[in-house]
Amino acid sequence: MGYKLISTWKMSFHKMSEAKRMLKIKYSLQEIIEAVIMDVEDNPDFHSVGYGGLPNNEGEVELDAGYMDGDSLAFGAVSAVKNIRNPILVASSLTKGKTNNHLTGKGAEKYAKENGFKTRRMLTGKAKEKYLDKVKENSHDTVCVIGKDLNGSMAVGVSTSGLFMKHPGRVGDSPIIGSGFYCDSQIGGVAATGIGEDIMRGCLSISTVNYMRQGLNAQQACEKALFTYLERVNNEPEAISLIALDAKGNYGACSTLADFPFVILDENNEARLMVYLGNEKRIVEADQKWLANYKGD
Ligand code: ASP
Repeated sequence: MGYKLISTWKMSFHKMSEAKRMLKIKYSLQEIIEAVIMDVEDNPDFHSVGYGGLPNNEGEVELDAGYMDGDSLAFGAVSAVKNIRNPILVASSLTKGKTNNHLTGKGAEKYAKENGFKTRRMLTGKAKEKYLDKVKENSHDTVCVIGKDLNGSMAVGVSTSGLFMKHPGRVGDSPIIGSGFYCDSQIGGVAATGIGEDIMRGCLSISTVNYMRQGLNAQQACEKALFTYLERVNNEPEAISLIALDAKGNYGACSTLADFPFVILDENNEARLMVYLGNEKRIVEADQKWLANYKGD
């Protein structure tokens, strides 16, 4: 059984389509996951992740990221960090410690600077303009990547600027292990995107992994975790999406949205942009018509 990757949103497609070439030149799974996420973090046109991300209600960009190694179950995360160029790299480096795995705010920034991670002023002119206009646009997403390598090792990484106009210090699900991400190479990996508070109330990543542990495949587990939770909270949450990859290599995705795009890649195929259609509860490959109508990142 070969290599597999799955990632959230169309914004991850660009680097996912290069990941196959990276596989051939033998990058590690961690390097590939980091490369896909950094490509989105560094792109100012995506307003929900990294450079160009939309700010909090004081006009400052605060970033969250997490990483988990499915072999050792080691995890690392940073939350509410300012002016760190690639939060995913700081998060993944924190997997090495037995303690201090999740650092937040000033402490996380101090660690990043002491350890030579690049800094950058993350607020772009365009993001500042949107802030000054107070356009209350629905701009929040998380780039999430789950992978499995040829040895069956699995890992997951996530990165986001969280909700536009959030309160300073607000931390969403993304850097919270079990909510925004979870990965166990023996079972599978899961990551979430959407309104963090709604995802955290259901601890949806570990919940989905636990359904896989009971024998459901990645798709069945995403559906079971999301729909059971939605029923419990009276279908209130408007924006929750999940992706999963099980240890057998099956992909899964599920969402409350009418259209949730995600990308899949394996060693026999080029990267493919897929869409979970929330109203029809099924997955299709994105075609030209869908691409022409899609307005999101
Ligand atoms: N889950 C992120 C947060 O709440 C945002 C998103 O993925 O849409 O911070």
